[in-house]
Amino acid sequence: DGGKRPDYLSGLNPEQTEAVETLEGPVLVLAGAGTGKTRVLTTRIAHILNTGRAFPSQILAVTFTNKAAREMKERIAVLVGGAVEGMPWLGTFHSIGVRLLRRHAEMVGLRSDFTILDTDDVVRLIKQLIQAEGLDDKRWPAKQFAGMIDTWKNKGLGPGDIAEGDARAFANGKGRELYVAYQQRLSTLNACDFGDLLMHPIAIFRKNPDLLKEYHGRFRYILVDEYQDTNTAQYMWLRLLAQRPKGEPQNVCCVGDDDQSIYGWRGAEVDNILRFEKDFPGAKVIKLERNYRSTAHILGAAGHLIAHNEGRLGKTLFTDRSDPEDIKVQVHASWDSEVEAREIGEEIEQLQRGNPDGKRHLLNDMAILVRASFQMREFEDRFVTLGLNYRVIGGPRFYERLEIRDAMAYFRLVAQPADDLAFERIINTPKRGLGDTTVRALHDYARARDIPMLAAAADMIETDELKPKARKALFDVVQSFRRWQEMLENTPHTELAEQILEESGYTDMWKNDKSADAPTRLENLKELIRSMESFESMRGFLEHVSLVMDAEQNENLDAVSIMTLHSAKGLEFDTVFLPGWEEGLFPHQRSLDESGRAGLEEERRLAYVGITRAKHRCHIWFVSNRRIHGLWQSTIPSRFLDELPETHVEVAEAEQSYGGYGRGGYGQSRFDKADPFANSYSTPGWKRAQQNKTDATRDNWGTRSGHAVERIGYGESGPRGRTIDGE
Ligand code: ATP
Ligand code: MG
Repeated sequence: DGGKRPDYLSGLNPEQTEAVETLEGPVLVLAGAGTGKTRVLTTRIAHILNTGRAFPSQILAVTFTNKAAREMKERIAVLVGGAVEGMPWLGTFHSIGVRLLRRHAEMVGLRSDFTILDTDDVVRLIKQLIQAEGLDDKRWPAKQFAGMIDTWKNKGLGPGDIAEGDARAFANGKGRELYVAYQQRLSTLNACDFGDLLMHPIAIFRKNPDLLKEYHGRFRYILVDEYQDTNTAQYMWLRLLAQRPKGEPQNVCCVGDDDQSIYGWRGAEVDNILRFEKDFPGAKVIKLERNYRSTAHILGAAGHLIAHNEGRLGKTLFTDRSDPEDIKVQVHASWDSEVEAREIGEEIEQLQRGNPDGKRHLLNDMAILVRASFQMREFEDRFVTLGLNYRVIGGPRFYERLEIRDAMAYFRLVAQPADDLAFERIINTPKRGLGDTTVRALHDYARARDIPMLAAAADMIETDELKPKARKALFDVVQSFRRWQEMLENTPHTELAEQILEESGYTDMWKNDKSADAPTRLENLKELIRSMESFESMRGFLEHVSLVMDAEQNENLDAVSIMTLHSAKGLEFDTVFLPGWEEGLFPHQRSLDESGRAGLEEERRLAYVGITRAKHRCHIWFVSNRRIHGLWQSTIPSRFLDELPETHVEVAEAEQSYGGYGRGGYGQSRFDKADPFANSYSTPGWKRAQQNKTDATRDNWGTRSGHAVERIGYGESGPRGRTIDGE
């Protein structure tokens, strides 16, 4: 080259530079959190563009989320000094799949204006097919089959690839037939599902070698971020595009971290990392070991934790940050989740005011990462009370969730019988045979007399205007609401709420639901009931929720981010709060039950992802009491707390200000210095366990020339490869 090195290269370390400049041939960057993998990809693209090696349209770059794609585009623009003329092939596997499919739809029997069905559409369609086969759709639920199809498609399996045994597992061996019928039906409807966005391009490329060759010519450079979470179909798709005949350039670069593989439950195959070296012989494997994101304490804590996993590829991570101001990872214990939310709110306000370090911190630099979405509720409520801005990332806010809106509609209609919107929302949820015709009749009747729909319903059941079946169903509904309304005055409102959800069949609807998100919805409903406890009455609660719903969600506002650990992948924040580190919640019981050891390891990787999002401050919380299934239970601190190294973690000093709890000597100071859990009700679990631990687990730690050096996975690498959920 000889010329001046561009600015964007000068800040990189030698390994990063190598990863950016090795533009020819396959490259695999395997490196821990915060080592600059994403930065390498971004810089690589900038470098390709800047040196004129390819046009933006000749680069295929895959990110895990659409948000990540947008951010990458922005960063590239900064690096090349000006807007990039499009980057049409930068996006998620799915968004790129849509683009490919629109171009070549006719090759798989679709028109280019095909529609993409959402999960509800898919389930409805499958249900029709099941019924058309003369099968009992109660015995063979459509949702379950939709899940099976999704799993097959994630594995790249079409109807012809399904093993006999698999197909027999559903509908007395009719599984495959149904799958075939489903695909035919989609084709007739000029539609496809999410899995098809991967499957169709694979089929197109396989059937049309010439077209594939064209794309080989087009995509001069291929890049993939978060490679550890690709599933089999995505890998097949990638391999078709990236694997070239001998002698042709094969410029593919994947970056990933096996310790951050957290989508096994959705079919991700961390073994794709191992396959890469096999499928792309001569691939250059580059390891990045220097972490630029986190302090030595945060890194040390995360590294020590993840070292408890077997089946790791084993990596070294270090930082040469040794700022005397660095603080250890703080572990806090609270009485219950309400106190937890209050204390985290307090901590956030302190940081905002510039305590304790004299710097005023932006809310934008703080995040709360939860294991389960129901945990968000407590924070949202608290922040609204405090007037603290927050935004929920990667999903709806708690009170906006479908099941919460449904439940709230019931409560509203009991407290405010004129609420027609609530009436229309729940009149046929769960299904009672009160379809559109009935609703329209009620609507007309109500409008003609200027009365609420519930009142119209009460009138109409006395007439002959409805079909007997609808009339009977409506009669039951009206009776129920009468009963609940009478109870409103003298039954505790949480009890009433529980009863409403039970008696209306709403809870049962989700209990009988076979879809993957049903358990989460049930969890959220329980949390909803729990949230009512701090209010005097149903009306007070309803008022509060309307205030929360009204809270501003402005992109430009300085606001705390709230999200699940799963959606935090790839992100970073100055301060990270990790609440709810209790057994059963984190690690989540469901993962343990369903996937055993593999499930536990995936949970641990999730914990690793959580801690490594923090740049400077990482606060972990656990509570002594949580309400589970309507009963208060003492909780056991998460085993992950036991797995944190004492050198990098400390128990946070309790503030004196939360007096008045008065339980078990809680009031004065919750923590005794010698044994912070002496006064707490629950198991003083993790602290004691930690004291009993031998020094053996600390053998992995060393120092190098005065810097903290963390060797992760050293001496603990178990068998290579591992099993993934659902295999
Ligand atoms: P994750 O595994 O969490 O996705 P990552 O490996 O993709 O992490 P990046 O997000 O690319 O890491 O980088 C982490 C942080 O370190 C970013 O703020 C990035 O700007 C910074 N960083 C990376 N490399 C360097 C460097 N050479 N000099 C200074 N800062 C860097
Ligand atoms: Mg990244």
